[in-house]
Amino acid sequence: MKLKGTMDPHQQAIAQLEQVACLLKDQYQDSKKFQAVIKQLKTPDRVIKGELKVTMDDGLIQKFKAFRSQHNNARGPYKGGIRFHPGVTEEEVMALSTWMTWKCAVTNIPYGGSKGGIIVDPKKLSEAELQRLSRAYAEFLADHIGPWVDVPAPDVNTTPQIMAWMVDAYEKYLKTNHQPIQANPLATFTGKPLGLGGSAGREEATGLGGFFILEKLVKKLGLNRKQDITIAIQGFGNVGYWFAHHADQAGYKVVAVSDSKGGVYVESGLDPAETLHCKQKKGQLKDCLCADGKCNLINGRMITNKELLELEVDILVPAALENVITLDNAAKIRAKAILELANGPTTPEADQILFDKGVTLVPDVLANAGGVTTSYFEWVQNLQGYYWTKEEVISKLQPLMEDAFAQMWQMKENKQVSGRMATYMTAVKRVVDTMILRGI
Ligand code: GLU
Repeated sequence: MKLKGTMDPHQQAIAQLEQVACLLKDQYQDSKKFQAVIKQLKTPDRVIKGELKVTMDDGLIQKFKAFRSQHNNARGPYKGGIRFHPGVTEEEVMALSTWMTWKCAVTNIPYGGSKGGIIVDPKKLSEAELQRLSRAYAEFLADHIGPWVDVPAPDVNTTPQIMAWMVDAYEKYLKTNHQPIQANPLATFTGKPLGLGGSAGREEATGLGGFFILEKLVKKLGLNRKQDITIAIQGFGNVGYWFAHHADQAGYKVVAVSDSKGGVYVESGLDPAETLHCKQKKGQLKDCLCADGKCNLINGRMITNKELLELEVDILVPAALENVITLDNAAKIRAKAILELANGPTTPEADQILFDKGVTLVPDVLANAGGVTTSYFEWVQNLQGYYWTKEEVISKLQPLMEDAFAQMWQMKENKQVSGRMATYMTAVKRVVDTMILRGI
């Protein structure tokens, strides 16, 4: 995404790694080895890039730039989503793949990190064009992915349907090229629809995982009455919606949500399901408001994304894209705590300001780890050919999220560092230790 600060997202990821390396270095006697490993972690193992040629409905061929960054696989196959967005850049996927390495280490699932992207505005494509683009991407990557190599998944603007097209194109590619099939090819992609090897619970898993963290966070903050705890959510896609749904069901007051065009604020709390229904009908949230006393579904006022971020609420949840809390607005944030459901929403400069202001922050690699953790369960189910109920999936997800939060909190208290640094200390250490064990 376009940057407000001076650093591109990958430089930010490097800055965060350098910060945590300073905190960890005393734990390693062989400082040369430690520094060598940190140096290696600053750059992805490989970035695959190319141009996809897609026949459009009018018969003309259009080219789309595509990337896959494989950051590190010391702890297991590369793992991470694919985003379709006009703002995708190589530096962005490099950063996102780095964050995936830490994210998988946070809940201790046996994966490394990767991320892919295509520069495209999917809203401008017909369904048939979207399918051709998705299949072209799967074929472009086919030699670099696989259940034991790299396992892609959905991310911004990519859906279970898109994963279905990709896994189908991948299987056909293997057959056409007479590649040996070493494991169920379905285990090459996660976030698939239920009818094609998907896991129960995967669709809502990122939002639900964030909700498990919310429940633990409010206890630590000493906030007791759920009906008085206000939450503002920037972004109302899959992650923002499911988080809002679970928070609302549990009795919290979701007072604001937004999409890329703007948001709505309802002091008494809004109904996420009705709000989603209205957004689907009208196309954008800001059209879901009352005009001249005539109300449709939401009785509140319109706010900009900027205003939403600066609302005086208990919990602020960025659930859209990177770089929304920056040097420009960090000092104006009035929330008590930030739960990052988007990847990379806060710049390192803003992190420092928030820490100094005493705003508690639960970082992306912990708060939104429910998605990839449930992807892991999907992969396990595909590999064993035995499928679990939604209750079983959730009963496995909840303790992993809660344990990761408890570890972060303990580290944060013991070392007096920010939530991000506390999370990174555990995650980066796990990756570094495995690399040293491997003799890298
Ligand atoms: N795109 C999601 C994330 O950033 C999910 C990744 C996955 O399931 O592999 O965490």
